[in-house]
Amino acid sequence: MTKKNKKHIVIATAIIILVVALLIYRYYIPDMKPKKQFTPAAVEYAYDDSVTSSQLAEYNARQDWQLTLVNNDTPICENCSVILTALDNGQAVDCRIYPQLQKMFDDARSQGIYPTITSSFRTAEDQQDILESKYEHYQKIGYSDKKAKAYAEEWVAMPGTSEHELGLCVDIASGDSRVTNQEVWDWLAKNSYKYGFIERYTAEKQDITGIIPEEWHYRYVGEKAAKEMYENNLCLEEYLQKVS
Ligand SMILES: [Zn+2]
Repeated sequence: MTKKNKKHIVIATAIIILVVALLIYRYYIPDMKPKKQFTPAAVEYAYDDSVTSSQLAEYNARQDWQLTLVNNDTPICENCSVILTALDNGQAVDCRIYPQLQKMFDDARSQGIYPTITSSFRTAEDQQDILESKYEHYQKIGYSDKKAKAYAEEWVAMPGTSEHELGLCVDIASGDSRVTNQEVWDWLAKNSYKYGFIERYTAEKQDITGIIPEEWHYRYVGEKAAKEMYENNLCLEEYLQKVS
């Protein structure tokens, strides 16, 4: 074989490898657990300033609401209703978590940490919109339809399976240039349990929660449960198994 031929074979092989690699990159979908599809239950919601005081009292007196599990396998309850407190910039949370959320933010601010809420209560339609825009995003950057869908579903909870639809969680970021998102998240990771909140989706528990780590997503579970989960390094699924 001449030197020239050898060179051609090397180049041809390199091109074939490159083409195969590109095809794999575009069409191969890593082993992702297929998500169950649920018909999203319509959560009825009202704001606390539009309900009667007896409705509010009954709502506040309900038991164990803060431990409601919602995940990929456990959709939100049928006929669920929530009473919300409206926050500034269009956000809203279950009115029962509002006092502790406010206290946590006040204490953070007094320590030079300035958090803000970027997402809170969502309807099933809101959740569907988020899923669709993530899907479009992956399509736009060149993923195949199949892969774009798989990635979007990996990142975004299916409608009917997001805690956001119960108003029991918030996504938090820095609301002030004096602090970074990471500084806010570090403070929350260390302190939120004192107010009944937990970092819901950590890398360590991804196998159990089925959700990619989200340093910004905080879920209210009540002070007692949050403390126990924090001290024993348990995620909500593990905690519920332990106490059941
Ligand atoms: Zn979230």
